[in-house]
Amino acid sequence: MAKKEESCAVGIDLGTTYSCVAVWQEQHCRVEIIHNDQGNNTTPSFVAFTDHERLIGDAAKNQAATNPENTVFDAKRLIGRKYGDHIVQKDKILWPFKVVAGINDKPMVVVNYKGQEKQLCAEEVSSMVLVKMREIAEAFLEHPVKNAVVTVPAYFNDSQRKATIDAGAIAGLNVMRIISEPTAAAIAYGLDKRNNCVGERNIFIFDLGGGTFDVSLLTIKDKNFCVKATAGNTHLGGEDIDNRMVNYFVEEMKRKHKVDISDNPRALRRLRTACERAKRTLSFAITTNVEVDALFQGIDFYSSMSRAKFEEINLELFEECMETVKRCLTDAKIEKSSVHDVVLVGGSSRIPKVQQLLKDFFNGKDLCQSINPDEAVAYGAAVQAALLSEGIKNVPNLVLLDVTPLSLGTDIVGDIMSVVIPRNTTIPVKRTQVYETVYDNQSSVGVNVYEGERTRASDNNLLGFFTLSGFPRAPRGHPVDVTFVIDENGILFVSAEEKTTGNKNNITITNDKERLSTEEVGRMIQEANFFKVEDEKFLRKAKTKNDLDSCIYRIRKALKKDDINSLLCSKKKKDICSAINRATNLLDGTNEKDDIVVFEDCLSELESMLERLKTVNQNA
Ligand code: AMP
Repeated sequence: MAKKEESCAVGIDLGTTYSCVAVWQEQHCRVEIIHNDQGNNTTPSFVAFTDHERLIGDAAKNQAATNPENTVFDAKRLIGRKYGDHIVQKDKILWPFKVVAGINDKPMVVVNYKGQEKQLCAEEVSSMVLVKMREIAEAFLEHPVKNAVVTVPAYFNDSQRKATIDAGAIAGLNVMRIISEPTAAAIAYGLDKRNNCVGERNIFIFDLGGGTFDVSLLTIKDKNFCVKATAGNTHLGGEDIDNRMVNYFVEEMKRKHKVDISDNPRALRRLRTACERAKRTLSFAITTNVEVDALFQGIDFYSSMSRAKFEEINLELFEECMETVKRCLTDAKIEKSSVHDVVLVGGSSRIPKVQQLLKDFFNGKDLCQSINPDEAVAYGAAVQAALLSEGIKNVPNLVLLDVTPLSLGTDIVGDIMSVVIPRNTTIPVKRTQVYETVYDNQSSVGVNVYEGERTRASDNNLLGFFTLSGFPRAPRGHPVDVTFVIDENGILFVSAEEKTTGNKNNITITNDKERLSTEEVGRMIQEANFFKVEDEKFLRKAKTKNDLDSCIYRIRKALKKDDINSLLCSKKKKDICSAINRATNLLDGTNEKDDIVVFEDCLSELESMLERLKTVNQNA
């Protein structure tokens, strides 16, 4: 049996800007949020390198202004992305540290450590933060910690989830489970409230943190926590708000002092720190000063910002949040009036304008602020960690059912996305769909795996592909089973099987494949709405083309039968052949007119010919 302390597991909220660690305290039957060596419950997700040492957390953040090029933050914004991702390219401009393309286009952070250049990937930087969180827990618990539940934004894709598990492994942690941040927050809220609630409660979690924004709609009934829908943007948070303030004051510097500080990392870092402080002040004050002595070329920068101005320059971001809120409710098929509690999570949910827009949207409903927005995610993760640990008693018994954020499927003839697992399906899940070969004697099939909401498969994100071969000789229409499995961590496995031979092949979607950036994930859903009309048109045409192709095949097959041939007059045969020629030309694209109506007319002509052939056959 494992020693009790060996089985002890912690919950870690690995945030873009701050991280938090918590543990289930068996003797007190409650979660303890663990404070760091500075006495703070949250630790900056910062890592710094100097000529002498590596610093993590508060120590790293505190020296950021004097060592901006070697102080790394925002690793969560890089994790699971390619260097060429336009989000990385955009962020790179604002970061004082250098990012270059590594092998397989992996973004690498370049730092100078003890006089030598070092390149680090996002997993490595995140693992350093995880090590710090582990050490904080070990100092508090006075024994080693090996197991952890780590949270990720609900909208993190497969690649980002895997990269987070890898970061845990680099940190020497066994990541027992990856859970979504809003779901973890719901555990914290639900456990607090469930004693007073009777029946089912619909809980809306609004989680606006430092770098990501997530919303989830859950229902809580007794011990069951069931996510109904989730939506979000993994590139929207407090840092984007800070960036807008920084840009505003950079312009002011240009106007007032005729200097441009945008190329000076040190000045930008100091201005950013002042802006973040001002932003926090504006959550309780109507106006605040922004002051940085000797900001640039000896210029002391003094300015002020009113709450109204702050809201004006960030309104676009706040409105984007509200669009996501609407989308989540639509997906969950729940009216806003049926939401019992709206729970605020994440430091940026303290912004009064955000709260006001949310309250107005829910028709004046009071927002729940009973849980600490900075600690709720780690709290929920700690409960989940205790539930997954051996020999821990007295943990509140709960069943957590999460969902997959994007639809997953494969392409079928005509580049159509055939969805196997629709978005917002409860996970873990296993779904099998039977596909058919499209040619006679087809010996293999290629399985392309996509994620996304567009009708045309190639408009979605290709996650991976594999081939299944060695089929027996058979006419087209031979069945192949394709199975999609998503595990508890949201990680996808796909397999295909040809039943008569038992031939199988499979793929685990890994993060070395070209994956979608998370901003693209959000954009794809939005695009899906914008392009819905175009998609429907495309689908109608592709379906007609498929039906036409199948109809030609069936007519040709019918014509091969000797008895039919003898019953048909040569004029009929000629008519059928020329109709088939027209249809084939249309499908080959040799016909100039390729309007949908032309295809539909051609299809109905061939279908009636096929019907007549069937009648002749029956009467024969
Ligand atoms: P989290 O990722 O949940 O730790 O949130 C961190 C973000 O919340 C950072 O961008 C902070 O600047 C922001 N934040 C924390 N407190 C406040 C506040 N009182 N008002 C506005 N933003 C805040």
